[in-house]
Amino acid sequence: MIYSDALFAKVNDLTSFEKVRVIGVLILLLGAVIYLGFWPSDWLQQIEFWINSHAVWPAWPILVYVFIAVVDTHITTVCVTLYLHRNQTHRSITFQPFIAELMQAWLWVRTAMPTKEWVAVHRKHHAFVESEDDPHTPWVYGIWRVLFYGTKLYHRAAHDQATLERFGTGTPSHWVARVIYGRFSLLGPVLTLVSNLWLFGVSGFPMWLFEMVWIPGFAAGVINGLGHWWGYRNFDTPDESRNLPGRIWALLTCGEALHNNHHDKQNSPRFARKPGEIDLGYIYFCKLENLGLAQRER
Ligand SMILES: [Zn+2]
Ligand SMILES: [Zn+2]
Repeated sequence: MIYSDALFAKVNDLTSFEKVRVIGVLILLLGAVIYLGFWPSDWLQQIEFWINSHAVWPAWPILVYVFIAVVDTHITTVCVTLYLHRNQTHRSITFQPFIAELMQAWLWVRTAMPTKEWVAVHRKHHAFVESEDDPHTPWVYGIWRVLFYGTKLYHRAAHDQATLERFGTGTPSHWVARVIYGRFSLLGPVLTLVSNLWLFGVSGFPMWLFEMVWIPGFAAGVINGLGHWWGYRNFDTPDESRNLPGRIWALLTCGEALHNNHHDKQNSPRFARKPGEIDLGYIYFCKLENLGLAQRER
């Protein structure tokens, strides 16, 4: 209970300008939904018709598209937790090279995040946790700023050359990683938009929006913010890390929500530590391990 009180007490952390931007974006989104839903203009209908007439599967029931988008974001979450976090950052597990390359390519088209940047920012977080040098602690920046502007904090750290050089060591440096995933990072999400529209017609557009906001919302906002603010602690770590209560958070984030467990034993491949806790990421890793496609290093 004490945590939720603290959560609301921090609402004033956002500057007036930041609050206006959050409210403005919400109003814009609401306006777009109302406009598209109730007053479709002729030219919008013509664009819709043209896209759907060239698409592969434009006429499935809407729930099918919802299901596909949810599975899609789940795959992205698996790549973030298994590849970026447990493999590249903490080296607790490794994958067969083609599995690692597949995950890296998927992360390019779904998140535009180069491996080196993600790894460097996260290692810096562990090295300076809850201090002024922690790139995204809510105890310095305020919980609302991390929740709503977590991506801004992430990008500021990710584009700091000194951070990349000091903390990004050992990450892929072949030319595809440097040039395609690095310099042309934004091309990835464009490819996802085009392929979504081609496969699913105009339904591919809201699917793309959902796929694009998933990682910024859950990784940058929920894990980096709430994972250091709200929930229970199994271990008395020298930071404010917490496990988000209820299995739904752990399921949605493939175990990342068990953040206090992770801070306690950073090099463990497994984030669940107590009975009843679920780490889907670890379960998937064990399946890959059984198939000979992954191995544990610790
Ligand atoms: Zn943390
Ligand atoms: Zn970590």
